[in-house]
Amino acid sequence: MAGTGAHGGVAVSTVAVVEDNADNRLLLQAILDGLYDVVEYENGIDALAGLSANLPDLVLLDISLPGMDGNEILARIRADEHLAGLPVIALTAHAMAGDREKYLSAGFNDYITKPIVDEQLLLNAMEKWLAAKNTRGL
Ligand SMILES: [Mg+2]
Repeated sequence: MAGTGAHGGVAVSTVAVVEDNADNRLLLQAILDGLYDVVEYENGIDALAGLSANLPDLVLLDISLPGMDGNEILARIRADEHLAGLPVIALTAHAMAGDREKYLSAGFNDYITKPIVDEQLLLNAMEKWLAAKNTRGL
């Protein structure tokens, strides 16, 4: 599917959304529809298997997930030679002072708080890291 579709032959980036909440997935679909090819995962086990099988260009990763949480998933992504270079943006409702620094130092590329009230903030962060990834030629 990548490279066809929404933009008529222009390569469309693939974004993996890892989010267990159906309402949040619907909101992200609405924001990303027509801009990216979106692949959704509801838990870490499915996400790690799916990311390896179908490498996306960027990952939006919820922190609060059943079973394996987003921090654990990120650690496994960064430890995996095949996945380590993926841009990963944390999506979390746990917005407290110092959180941003905590997530960035853990290896997330960026950090967006939920609920998403400013979709342009999310899109700008995604474009920034997609551009950086393309510049590095990954
Ligand atoms: Mg969640």
